[in-house]
Amino acid sequence: MNTLNRNYINGRWVAWDGDMIDVHEAATGEVIARVPAAGAAEMDQAVAAAHAAFDDWSQSPVARRLAVLEQLHSGLLARAGEIAQTVCREVGMPIRLATAIQAGLPATVTRTYLDLLPSFPFRETVGNSEVQYLPVGVVGCITPWNYPLHQAVLKVVPALAAGCTVVLKPSEVAPQSAYILAEILDSTGLPPGVFNLVCGPGATAGEALIHHPDVRMLSFTGSTDTGRRVAHAAADDCKRLALELGGKSASLVLPDADLAAAVKGTVNSCLLNSGQTCTALTRLLVPADRHDEACELAAAAVARMTPGNPLDEATRLGPLASAQQHRRVLDYIRLGLTEGATLVTGGPDAPEGCARGYFVKATVFGHVRPDSRIAQEEIFGPVLCVIPYRDEAEAIGIANGTRYGLSGAVWSADPERARQVAGRLRSGQVTVNGGAFNPRAPFGGFGHSGLGREFGRWGLEEFLEVRSLQL
Ligand code: NAD
Repeated sequence: MNTLNRNYINGRWVAWDGDMIDVHEAATGEVIARVPAAGAAEMDQAVAAAHAAFDDWSQSPVARRLAVLEQLHSGLLARAGEIAQTVCREVGMPIRLATAIQAGLPATVTRTYLDLLPSFPFRETVGNSEVQYLPVGVVGCITPWNYPLHQAVLKVVPALAAGCTVVLKPSEVAPQSAYILAEILDSTGLPPGVFNLVCGPGATAGEALIHHPDVRMLSFTGSTDTGRRVAHAAADDCKRLALELGGKSASLVLPDADLAAAVKGTVNSCLLNSGQTCTALTRLLVPADRHDEACELAAAAVARMTPGNPLDEATRLGPLASAQQHRRVLDYIRLGLTEGATLVTGGPDAPEGCARGYFVKATVFGHVRPDSRIAQEEIFGPVLCVIPYRDEAEAIGIANGTRYGLSGAVWSADPERARQVAGRLRSGQVTVNGGAFNPRAPFGGFGHSGLGREFGRWGLEEFLEVRSLQL
């Protein structure tokens, strides 16, 4: 049992003897850790510390920030194995994926800011003006459970690089890697108060953070419903706001595409982290005359992904992260059965050999109506909707026909045609024929998928105010 009865406030670990929150192992349902159910009092202390530290840190030379980030980078690499195991057990993320995305990607993101910072133009001349980029102030960072360390690092690192001070409230479902992050930052000699960690429920700790008058910016990743609450709180106090929210992304297969490659790429994206990925391609749009072939290919791809123990190197499909997620995804699968879609593979029964934990069968629905709920709402589980279309215009309409706009994919034998269609999708990122993820490119959503951008220069600029001096 990992008893984390402490919060990190003002450069030291503050003991907690109040209520604790249980953290469950996704593959077994057993309690593996406990963390504080902290609330407004701890948030007040953390924000006060961040507020007091801001003046000094905001004026720190870039070299000082680089020294901290360099040590963070080394610390993340040194503790990679422990981080991967931790996230694998609490989220159910297969260990190979946890190693790449929870241990590897946070180090890569930190490296991108180490590379970017020395040449970032914090001052530039525009005619008779000097344009200055200044840190926003105290930033409240709130993160979800699906890629917990990555999402925390994607906020904390550019915020610190910009000269902001931070209060991090991680998801109470998967909080342990945030403690590892705090331990590493503590060892870097970061001045007290520059980074603070408070763990508690959204309804108490989260609400206290978003409404705190000394917090000048909220950077939130999570569901669209919570994002809206955060946006209301930001509006009430004119706080800066960055939101990374949900998605219902389309994979649009043009008639000339290599269908097998397109279906394989789409299934891999849809089932990544058991479908608990905001960018997951969950709607496969295929020409009507290739619908049945696409369903067969999808069923074959899914059959190769039997659910298993996430700690096993060979496992590619783990359980869902929590009992709540498990209920929610099974409800959507049952809903699909009543909405007139055809069940191609999967369904609501427990997968064989998975009596414990939060496992579900990877599920493919065919003949899904674009306006049905399973095609419109974010399920956040391993559920693929195959949707037939008649022509390109209809396909683009279906792809753009949800309230979301996070991600998308286009497949065609003609790269120029694919590019043109990709340009008509209303989403923050689109892959063409399976183009690789680029951690230096901007990432974010249109519509109900969010506001602002993360990664690279764009991620840094979110944390900067711009001032012009007329000379
Ligand atoms: P969630 O909205 O339930 O919780 C996210 C965070 O908000 C948690 O830390 C939670 O404690 C906190 N929170 C909850 N209520 C709050 C309140 N009233 N005030 C302040 N904070 C509050 O989301 P989740 O279930 O943890 O994560 C899954 C969601 O995150 C999915 O919708 C997914 O698409 C989205 N997501 C988006 C991205 C992206 O980059 N766009 C990335 C990952 C996940």
